[in-house]
Amino acid sequence: MVVRMRANRSKTGMRRSHAAISGTRLSRCECGANRIPHRACAACGKYNGNVIIDIVARTEREQRRTKRHEKELKESGKDVKEKETSEKT
Ligand SMILES: [Zn+2]
Repeated sequence: MVVRMRANRSKTGMRRSHAAISGTRLSRCECGANRIPHRACAACGKYNGNVIIDIVARTEREQRRTKRHEKELKESGKDVKEKETSEKT
């Protein structure tokens, strides 16, 4: 760009005065929790009055998953320790 056309700091600031991002708007779900508009509620899984996400099943699945992961970690940890001790001796 030619120097003649270059915007000074003031002009740049004036242009960018409208460029700020506003915060997320929240609407209230019928269960009382805050909810992002056009998204299913994270607390009860409802959207437009209908249950879309089965929250109970999801939490159960996640609990099973974490349990399994912990078990696997424990087992792998034991194996690692046994190997280390056997290598040292
Ligand atoms: Zn809800």
